[in-house]
Amino acid sequence: MTKLNTADLSIGYEKKIVVNDITVEIPKGQITSLIGPNGSGKSTFLKALARILNPIKGEVLLDGENVQCLDTKSIAQKIASLSQSSTQITGLTVAEIVAYGRFPYQKGFSGLKERDHQLIDWAIEATNLQKLKDRTLATLSGGQQQRVWIAMALAQDTDILILDEPITFLDPAHQLEILELLQEINRQGKTILMTIHDLNHASRFSDYLLGMKKGRLLFQGTPKEIFTADKLLNLFDIQATFATLPNSDKPLVIAYDLVREC
Ligand code: ADP
Repeated sequence: MTKLNTADLSIGYEKKIVVNDITVEIPKGQITSLIGPNGSGKSTFLKALARILNPIKGEVLLDGENVQCLDTKSIAQKIASLSQSSTQITGLTVAEIVAYGRFPYQKGFSGLKERDHQLIDWAIEATNLQKLKDRTLATLSGGQQQRVWIAMALAQDTDILILDEPITFLDPAHQLEILELLQEINRQGKTILMTIHDLNHASRFSDYLLGMKKGRLLFQGTPKEIFTADKLLNLFDIQATFATLPNSDKPLVIAYDLVREC
C-alpha cells in the first residue's frame, strides 16, 4: 500500500504562503477527512499532495520519493484526485469519461487493452452506473455525475483517492450514497483523503481527522479525540454540544453556537 506523507510543506500562490510547514502522514488504508474553516488552505493542501501545485518549501513524499522527482504518469498510477469542480465535459458519455481514468497507463496511441476494459467495467459496476453508461454527463443529476467522477478515479486503479468536497452540492440522501460508496471503496483497500464541511458526516465516515486553520495543521486524531469542545472552539470558533451516534463510539455535534466577543 502506497505511503503518502509531507515534510515541512509550505504552499502558496505567487510567493504568498497559504499553507505553512505541514508534516503529516496520511494513514494507509483509512478514511481521513480534512476539516477547517473556508479559506484555511484545505484545497491548496490537497492540490499539492497530487502535485497539481508545487511546494514553496518542503516535500510531498510518495513511498518516500519526492513527488517533484516523479513523472506525472507514475504519480497518477498511485493517486487519483478529484477537485471541487471537475471540468464539465458534458458531451462525453459516462463510459467514455470513466475510460479517461486509464489514461496514465496508455503508451502512445496504443489504445485500451483488455485489462483497461476490465477496470472500466469494474469501476462502472462498483459505482452502480451500468444503466447510465451510454448517457452523456449533461443528462445526469448532481449525485450521478459525482458517481461518474468517482468511477473515473476508480478506473485509475490507484491506492490513494483524494477528493475535495465530494458531497457539497448534494441533497442528504445523495450525500450518504456517495459517502457509503467511499466507505465501500475504502474497505476494498484504498486510502481515502477528503475535505468535508459536515462535521457529523466527517465523524461518522472517517477513521481519522486533520484540522486545518489559517494554513496550519492545528491537530490530528480520531473523531473521538478531535470532537471536544476546546478543539472545535479553536478550529471553528463555535461552542459545540455533543452526543454519540447510536451503536457506535462516533461523536456527533447536536448543536453549536457562534462564540461572540463581548
Ligand atoms: P479552503 O479549501 O480551506 O477553503 P483554499 O485552499 O481554497 O482554502 O484557499 C486558501 C487561501 O488561498 C485563500 O486565502 C484563498 O483565497 C487563496 N487561494 C486559493 N486559490 C488561489 C489562487 N488560485 N490564487 C491565489 N490565491 C488563492
